[in-house]
Amino acid sequence: MNTTRMPTLFVGHGSPMNAIEDNAFTRGWQELAARLPKPKAILCVSAHWETRGSFVCAAPQPQTIHDFYGFPQALFDVRYPAPGDPALAQRIAGLVKSTKVATTPEWGLDHGTWSVLEIMYPQADVPTLQLSIDSARPGAFHHAIGRELGALRDEGVLILGSGNIVHNLRTLNFHDPRPTDWTVRFDESVRERIAAGRDTDLFDWRALDPQAALAVPTPEHYLPLLYVLGARRDDDTASFHTVGYFGTISMTSVLLS
Ligand code: ZN
Repeated sequence: MNTTRMPTLFVGHGSPMNAIEDNAFTRGWQELAARLPKPKAILCVSAHWETRGSFVCAAPQPQTIHDFYGFPQALFDVRYPAPGDPALAQRIAGLVKSTKVATTPEWGLDHGTWSVLEIMYPQADVPTLQLSIDSARPGAFHHAIGRELGALRDEGVLILGSGNIVHNLRTLNFHDPRPTDWTVRFDESVRERIAAGRDTDLFDWRALDPQAALAVPTPEHYLPLLYVLGARRDDDTASFHTVGYFGTISMTSVLLS
């Protein structure tokens, strides 16, 4: 019996190309995987599965979804054949009381999940399932689900949020990927609040900075962080990894352990 409480982790995933690259961020993800206990299962809240209502994927063998265009064939060739866990999906649907979470055979693993796990767990031998994001709902809604899911940490389940604290593709200059002032400032202000345990300040990201609307133009990449913070325990320590930027994308990862 696994009696170790699993840490919970938010990863800034950035470009799907990370799945097949070797860079400072992917090496950071490998280091994170090496310091975690091996999970019995992984529940990923990915920025790339947005739904009305909340769903958990109960497919016994989730498909690898290539939800992007204009990338090299090598990226479309990636398969991440981790098994699903239909029984855990049922359990999750029952565990969350603050809203209805329905199981579905639809979806699979999108690149928010597999581009990170291909690096962290390349053997794809840990059962993996996704929970969708109803991004029209307020911050407290997502945090409340995360709090309820936090019980799974005691059963060896890794609750993984995959998004980016700052994510603006419209302002991203591929020829000059230095971060803007507001990119760095917003990321730092989020880190400061997490370190100080002021998670409730993060429910309303629009109030964090005068230029929050540039840092978080749409909420889907920010919201996975709130699930991870919801699963936080009082005696967890927050640490920050892969802190860095690609233009107006922040690659910061947050480990609570
Ligand atoms: Zn993304």
